[in-house]
Amino acid sequence: RAKREGRGVVRRFERTMAEGELERLELERELRGALRERQLVLHYQGQFDVQSGALVGFEALVRWQHPVRGLVPPGAFIPLAEDSGLIVPIGEWVLREACLQAAAWSGCQLAPGISVNVSPLQFEQPNFVGSVRQALHLSGLAPSRLTLELTESLVMGNVERAMTQLKQLRALGVRLAMDDFGTGHSSLSLLQRLPFDDLKIDRSFVQTQLSAEGGARRSHLLIEAAVKLAQGLGLQVIAEGVETQAQWDMLQSLECNFAQGYYLMRPLPAAQAQEVLGLSGGGRAAD
Ligand code: C2E
Ligand code: MG
Ligand code: MG
Ligand code: MG
Repeated sequence: RAKREGRGVVRRFERTMAEGELERLELERELRGALRERQLVLHYQGQFDVQSGALVGFEALVRWQHPVRGLVPPGAFIPLAEDSGLIVPIGEWVLREACLQAAAWSGCQLAPGISVNVSPLQFEQPNFVGSVRQALHLSGLAPSRLTLELTESLVMGNVERAMTQLKQLRALGVRLAMDDFGTGHSSLSLLQRLPFDDLKIDRSFVQTQLSAEGGARRSHLLIEAAVKLAQGLGLQVIAEGVETQAQWDMLQSLECNFAQGYYLMRPLPAAQAQEVLGLSGGGRAAD
């Protein structure tokens, strides 16, 4: 009897696996169409100077406006896009669109910077540097206004090759930010060798439970250490995931350079981000 039940469990398990696989394939098929059907959109989250409080730039964050599923967050399709290779054309689209949008915002007094996330697979493409050069050329955006956000995992594979490419990107005049610092196997010596401009402290550091006993103090110490380290290496520090006044106050006291988070601004569709900039009208007209 136990054996029969066991078989039943196995069969149920196989069925769920098959269903999971089908669902994955269906999502991949739809994602392939999403680019063609122009269902991908960018939202923009403000980045603020901690000392002055001024808005200095935006991070472009991709979403999938699915006809049935609604607005799908990147966490639900970027991993699939990475596995299937679709991240390459998606990433190229994001880069072009973000540069065009930032260029369209050049007219405002602020001329905000724009940060774009780059996947490891995208970075590994032999023509990646070329695609960045092309996005700048097509949009007319000043290279110094573009920041590429890379994670440390991307240099783990082949440090020398990554180094060469990072230098080529720097030679274009774009900024380089290490994203999600503190979540991976950050090697300090690597950080020292690589030509990064900015360090983004992951929100798990900023949000270390302020309520837990010793939590506030630990969070304070961790961020203080990261800020000192980064600034010592000549990098600027951006704190992610600022959700409260207390966190903002702490960053000010630690002389962190920039901050991003729901407390300051939620990611907004282009038209709303544009209103924040004091420009009237909608977002960049679709082409
Ligand atoms: P990330 O680059 O670390 O982006 C920050 C994420 O934190 C965003 O989530 C943002 O909405 C969220 N966030 C910002 N402030 C707060 C806050 O105060 N509290 C909390 N809880 N969250 C906050 P989102 O938009 O869901 O993006 C998630 C991740 O997806 C990004 O993490 C990035 O790794 C990836 N991603 C987004 N857009 C792209 C893209 O165009 N290309 C690639 N390759 N990855 C992307
Ligand atoms: Mg990012
Ligand atoms: Mg991040
Ligand atoms: Mg993060």
